[in-house]
Amino acid sequence: MTQYKAYCFDLDGTIYRGKEPITEAVDFVTRRQEEGYETYFITNNAALTRAAQQKKLAGFGVKTDVEHIMNSAIALARYCKQYYAGATVMMIGEEGLEEALEAEQITITSENPDVVLMGLDRQITYGKLAEACLAIRNGAHFLGTNQDVKFPTERGLVPGNGSFLHLMEVATETKPIVVGKPEPHMLQFIQQQGEYGKDEMILIGDNYDTDILAGIRYGIDTAYVATGVTPVEEVLTKELQPTYVLSSLAEWPKK
Ligand SMILES: [Mg+2]
Repeated sequence: MTQYKAYCFDLDGTIYRGKEPITEAVDFVTRRQEEGYETYFITNNAALTRAAQQKKLAGFGVKTDVEHIMNSAIALARYCKQYYAGATVMMIGEEGLEEALEAEQITITSENPDVVLMGLDRQITYGKLAEACLAIRNGAHFLGTNQDVKFPTERGLVPGNGSFLHLMEVATETKPIVVGKPEPHMLQFIQQQGEYGKDEMILIGDNYDTDILAGIRYGIDTAYVATGVTPVEEVLTKELQPTYVLSSLAEWPKK
């Protein structure tokens, strides 16, 4: 197996499952880090700040600085800065998105925005949706963090940001630009940050439709692990195959 400079890990279903670590993955990450390779953690979750995500990982025995955590809020803020420089932004979202916008010095406004950004907001109200709808109908660009329509909690599956993007797409008759996986933007920002060649990066994840497709679309190697959402039988029927299909990261050869 090839050695890579940058190992990019999905989180839920790859490093942990809900509140339980996946020990084979935690061991693998630790070993890579001891050998001097770079490890990145990539999540579509835009609600948590990087510091909160770092703390969660530490609780599972995974050490990382915040610079090696990439989420769809950071990617959306960088995308906004790159493609809509100087724009004012109306935001629906939580602390993670707000912090990411502040880090890029993006001006948040509640009136006449140039851009509407939408991430998961567990305090969402009809009023917020109505204001965003009116702004988009008035010509504001419409962007979202991620398209996941549902996500798992201890009590079962609940609506994700993708469900609200659908609602807004219907109401505004406008399709949002979305930066989360399976779009390759988060990988692109990691590549820029570390100045890697595409052949020096690999994406490791459990979800074919988000993780593996993001890697394939970006043109880097991918490793599917059967520890999360997509069953291995389903992966094997896909036309575009991951570079590696593993039952867990314990299968990765030691040297
Ligand atoms: Mg996952």
